[in-house]
Amino acid sequence: MTAEFEPVIGLEIHVELATRRKMFCGCPNTYGKEPNTVVCPVCMGHPGTLPVPNEEAVARAVQLGLALGAEIHPFSLFFRKNYFYPDLPKGYQITQYSASILTGGSLQGVRIERANLEEETAKSYHTETGDVLLDYNRAGIPLLEIVTHPDIRSPEQARAFLEELRLLLIYLGISECDMEKGQLRVDANISVRPVGSGSFGTKVEIKNLNSFRSVEHALRYEWERQAALISSGGTVEQETRLWDEFQKETRPMRSKEEAEDYRYFMEPDLPPLQLSRTWLEEQRAHLPELPEQRRKRYREVYHLSDKVLEALIADPAYGRYFEQLAEGLSRPELAGNWVAVHVLRVLKAEHLSMEDFPLSPDQLRPLLRMIEEERISHSAAQEVFEEMLRTGRDAASIVEERGLEQVSSDASLLPVVRAVLDAHPEIVEKYRRGKTGVLGVLIGAVMKETRGRANPQKVRELLMRELETS
Ligand code: ADP
Ligand code: ZN
Ligand code: MG
Repeated sequence: MTAEFEPVIGLEIHVELATRRKMFCGCPNTYGKEPNTVVCPVCMGHPGTLPVPNEEAVARAVQLGLALGAEIHPFSLFFRKNYFYPDLPKGYQITQYSASILTGGSLQGVRIERANLEEETAKSYHTETGDVLLDYNRAGIPLLEIVTHPDIRSPEQARAFLEELRLLLIYLGISECDMEKGQLRVDANISVRPVGSGSFGTKVEIKNLNSFRSVEHALRYEWERQAALISSGGTVEQETRLWDEFQKETRPMRSKEEAEDYRYFMEPDLPPLQLSRTWLEEQRAHLPELPEQRRKRYREVYHLSDKVLEALIADPAYGRYFEQLAEGLSRPELAGNWVAVHVLRVLKAEHLSMEDFPLSPDQLRPLLRMIEEERISHSAAQEVFEEMLRTGRDAASIVEERGLEQVSSDASLLPVVRAVLDAHPEIVEKYRRGKTGVLGVLIGAVMKETRGRANPQKVRELLMRELETS
């Protein structure tokens, strides 16, 4: 059924901004502190207090706008979104509603509708006994709401878009985007329409998506559900549904009729947010290199495979390490491979961040230089690498102690090569009759004789020379 119906998807993303302080008060922006200890009269909404916008949060929003090619509005407004729920101490949330700081721009061809500065609510914990516990430390943390146009056409595209947005936010230093800490949250809107149709169907909003994988799964489920519903003569109801991660299904939460009326009105305690041209230029000057720019530079400067490239782009710290490691090597792609394969394997296995990796680029580089100069084989290099990780010793002394230096000279290899040829007349015969594939067997025999220390390329050359001439 999904073949006949195409999904139309738009995303709403909430990102907690990594500022030093909360959005409208002087409380530090923290995570994981003793509940209800990082609060003040302003974020608790005590009468007589006044909000003051956080310039750092505004700067973060503007930097994202610059990166997305959005229009940055030098004049925007704050509104009150009213609803009564214990996670909202003031009884309203300050948000930009219809006067956004950013509109337009795009990422991966998906157009951004707008982005609004807002404040976080308190975090609620639902206990097994049915109580709701509230932690107001989160109340008032700066939040950016990013809304896309309904430009996405598959669950996979939604996921890829989110991964690229997350990467961008991390490179910009806007947020760590740790989804387990709720720093990035996604609501997904989806409707379906007959393939080839030009109009949109009725959309459903899916909430409670805790990972990009659940976004993809929930969208796929909902695509199938809506397609089946329409195929059997039913109609899709506009509603909010919840994704159940355990049952792998969406369930109705509330319908359009139950949608709240937020009674928006302009925040009387805040003047319009005005950005001067010089301040905006300062933000532009502070933009770091963005993921797409880094990909482009890496493609131009280093010869990396796409797989290695993406592995290095996945975290800005990987790229920094790689660039330092590649410094002064004649084959920088070797550094790319080592970081992408060996260093990342260790980081994943030990749950380390790049900053905690025990070997600095300066410590690792001599090892790669020995590979480059063909002084050690790749397998010997891995052995040395493991030892370096274990002991912190330098590559050269481990190579020397273990006698791992590769044998490349004719003088050392030729006797072994000749002995192997003498010992295997039947293989030599096969080779001469045109079965040149048996060369591998002979190379293997030489490698075995030299306990893996022979330079395989050199062995191949010598074997061929001997086979052709003798
Ligand atoms: P609402 O008024 O319900 O908030 P909006 O027009 O503001 O709806 O859109 C909210 C989100 O839903 C946006 O991300 C948008 O891209 C998406 N959206 C809007 N219409 C559709 C549709 N017909 N199908 C899928 N997504 C849609
Ligand atoms: Zn406060
Ligand atoms: Mg809306």
